[in-house]
Amino acid sequence: MRSLADDQGYMNRTLRCGICHKVMDHSEEIFQSQELYIPVCITCLHRFTEDDIELMLNIFLVFGGYFGKFSSDLFCLSKIFNRLDQKRIRYEDIEQLNVKLLHTAILHGLSPKDFLKRLKNFMEK
Ligand SMILES: [Zn+2]
Repeated sequence: MRSLADDQGYMNRTLRCGICHKVMDHSEEIFQSQELYIPVCITCLHRFTEDDIELMLNIFLVFGGYFGKFSSDLFCLSKIFNRLDQKRIRYEDIEQLNVKLLHTAILHGLSPKDFLKRLKNFMEK
């Protein structure tokens, strides 16, 4: 079995940001998550708080995807909640549902902070 480290063709020697999946320039300053050892580009480092970065890296590690994979125009809380109303959701599923909602939001290019603002506005309507 070959070691991944010895494989010259591994990922074509490109480094991608763990948040936005942008190919990172090797000369670019790189933020390294202390908990996950996943690189984050300088753009994302300046755009998000370190807590949001750690949270998003954890969610992408578990559920896949990346920030802004889909258009933010497609993210609609009223549609999501209408669909949820049609399903029977048990109380025990609420935490899982919250994480899935957050995952969906960041896939659509909303930061955790923006998502909470949007959720708050939606609930106040
Ligand atoms: Zn990035």
